[in-house]
Amino acid sequence: MIEIPNVVAGEERPAAGGEWFEKLAPATGEPISRAARSRAVDVGAAVAAAEQAQPAWAARTVEERGRILRRIAQLLERDREAVAAVVADETGKSPKDARAETDGAIELGYFIAGEGRRFYGKTIPSATPNRQAMTLRQPLGVAGLIIAANTPIANVAWKVFPALLCGNAAVLKGSEDSPRTALVFARLAAEAGLPAGVLDVVHGLGPEAGQPLVEDERVAVVSFTGSTAVGRMIARVAGERLAKVCLELGGKNPLVVCDDANLEKAAQAAALSAFSNAGQRCAAGSRLIVFDAVYDRFRDLLVEKASTQKVGPTDDDDFGPVINERQLANMLAAVARAREAGATVVTGGEQLERPGFYIPPTIVEDVAIDAELSSTELFGPITTLHRVADFEEALTAANASPYALTAAIWTNSIHRGHEFLHRIVAGGVQVNGPTYGFEPHVPFGGLRNSGTGWREPGTEALDVYSDWKTVYVTHDPEAA
Ligand code: NAD
Repeated sequence: MIEIPNVVAGEERPAAGGEWFEKLAPATGEPISRAARSRAVDVGAAVAAAEQAQPAWAARTVEERGRILRRIAQLLERDREAVAAVVADETGKSPKDARAETDGAIELGYFIAGEGRRFYGKTIPSATPNRQAMTLRQPLGVAGLIIAANTPIANVAWKVFPALLCGNAAVLKGSEDSPRTALVFARLAAEAGLPAGVLDVVHGLGPEAGQPLVEDERVAVVSFTGSTAVGRMIARVAGERLAKVCLELGGKNPLVVCDDANLEKAAQAAALSAFSNAGQRCAAGSRLIVFDAVYDRFRDLLVEKASTQKVGPTDDDDFGPVINERQLANMLAAVARAREAGATVVTGGEQLERPGFYIPPTIVEDVAIDAELSSTELFGPITTLHRVADFEEALTAANASPYALTAAIWTNSIHRGHEFLHRIVAGGVQVNGPTYGFEPHVPFGGLRNSGTGWREPGTEALDVYSDWKTVYVTHDPEAA
């Protein structure tokens, strides 16, 4: 079986205790690898290596750091097929979806590398003669990066590229559901000439390997992508020692369909938002809010789209399995509870009878907007339908969520579109688009239970991983 070691100070090594954990292929349920089961001692060693490597890395020009990052992106591009194959293996998604995700990671790498030549601050006039103020970005030190597995290579890229460009060293705690993807990235980074220790990777379970990273006093910024429950805990622990904390958390994203929408296109966007990537997107469209006047027609169109979705791990399929058995069991239990509470499961809702962790497209109606099913993130191909009378009711329903990550509205009215984009509480909104699909160069993040206000990526990601230094220079001090 493939063994996945940690990478510490440029050296691949097992956990100090010699323990491993098994990784199962979601497509088959069979073991495909085992990864180092790290504990605090391993995390401590990785942080020490990062701390040692960071000053020399920060002393290089940001342009040079960008050049090395560009080389990593080039190697990702060279190895696109191999990287995508690992992603497909670890997630069960199709090779074409894995390739598309890898392309996103490459694009992000090039974008952030380019920021090495645009590492702008401000110049600010002073009220005092002969004096000039300016702002410079400075690194924070060691960045602790903790990620989910829904888009494994993108999740690695989204954090590692900006963290390193800013002059930090990073310790990446890979997701236990996609450890090999993190290792593959670290190997390419080393080949690209990234100095040993600048990117260290530890594998392991959240409480055993993630928590020590959050607790470590030497980690200046913790950047986390994952569930709201874990994010809350991280904010508490890292907040206690006043570390900077960036949280990219869950979503329960509304897609509103108005009576003047192109229903065919809206149903297509809703199906993609709800089911693609097996619904494992923080930006998935998991609440569909539809005007009464078009509700039945829209539902029929959506059910028809759901019925033609092929579920499986090949390029002939529309989406694959969910990431693990635990997540699948959570989803099935939530749908079963909703059914008991009076909801109607229009389609789906049961595990597919075959090996692997498959659930078909699932559409549920007759659920209140504040019911468990429509207010809890399930992270699977499950969506709820809600009937509303008009725009105001739709907007109220869309905003009635503990989350506020993304949203979409389908309408041909410029007035409704603008009203919605101004009044929806969300980190991102699309008019006549899906709830997901934010590109590598635009800021992404959420409010409420979806995050703490930081944005990744876009140039805004640099704000997560650097701090400002305000500088005054007085020239001709004799005259001043
Ligand atoms: P999760 O919170 O269970 O795990 C995420 C990571 O946190 C894993 O690496 C895990 O090992 C680690 N972890 C778990 N417990 C920990 C602890 N006590 N201390 C430190 N680290 C710990 O999330 P998941 O189920 O793997 O991923 C799905 C979640 O990720 C969803 O909620 C989804 O919305 C979210 N997500 C958000 C974004 C975004 O940008 N907003 C993007 C992708 C995924």
